[in-house]
Amino acid sequence: MRKKLIAANWKMYKTPGQARDFFRDFLPMVDGHDRDEIVVCPNYLAIDVAIQAAKGTKVAIGAQDLHWENEGAFTGEICTSMLVAVGVTDVIIGHSERRQYFGETDDTVNLKLKSALSAGLTPIVCVGEVLEEREAGLTEDVLRRQCLRAFNKVSAKKASKMVVAYEPVWAIGTGKTATPEMAAEAHEIIRAEAADSFGQPFADQMRILYGGSVKPENAHALMSEKEIDGALVGGASLDPTSFAAIVKY
Ligand code: PEP
Repeated sequence: MRKKLIAANWKMYKTPGQARDFFRDFLPMVDGHDRDEIVVCPNYLAIDVAIQAAKGTKVAIGAQDLHWENEGAFTGEICTSMLVAVGVTDVIIGHSERRQYFGETDDTVNLKLKSALSAGLTPIVCVGEVLEEREAGLTEDVLRRQCLRAFNKVSAKKASKMVVAYEPVWAIGTGKTATPEMAAEAHEIIRAEAADSFGQPFADQMRILYGGSVKPENAHALMSEKEIDGALVGGASLDPTSFAAIVKY
């Protein structure tokens, strides 16, 4: 049985004060919720407030990105030791917005994955096809390539905590959602690639989240699909009531 993971990606939203307000309202709504793991990924400046607010609760705090080097002259970047030092436990890697706007490649995803795993963080590696690729029948090729390159020279032993998020780019922030069946089909491709890279037992225990316009209204149908091991939620995670409704689907 894979425990579901419901993760919030706040993107470039919320000041530290707004993050504090979110947790004030959200935490009582999910108090005692043990069925799923909950992770909230704020922007770097709101991470500390989030960690203080969530202390003593089951809500974990993640980052939205990292740099793969341990330190150095990389203006504007953040590395794993900095995240670990403040209590971050999870990190999103290879989000499509990083790929689309900030030059993230399959190779940098691989470097970031290795760095996160070495630091003991739980990586949430994002993969997904754009609309043109889906329409051209290339979804399987794209998912297999993104996974294969992300997993390059990563051992099953090291990768045990790794989570993959299937995020069809055409569904992110667009209000369009993959049907549970479409998501399940993509998840099976990702699991098959994980089996090729790490072996079937590893693939069987690896969690694959779905992300792309998850909302309270569609969370139940998506989460009831046995191939879907949780959700990565953008827009609908910004409001405490809406995110709590998704967590409780
Ligand atoms: C995301 O940012 O990972 C995401 C899935 O966004 P949204 O839920 O807004 O589509």
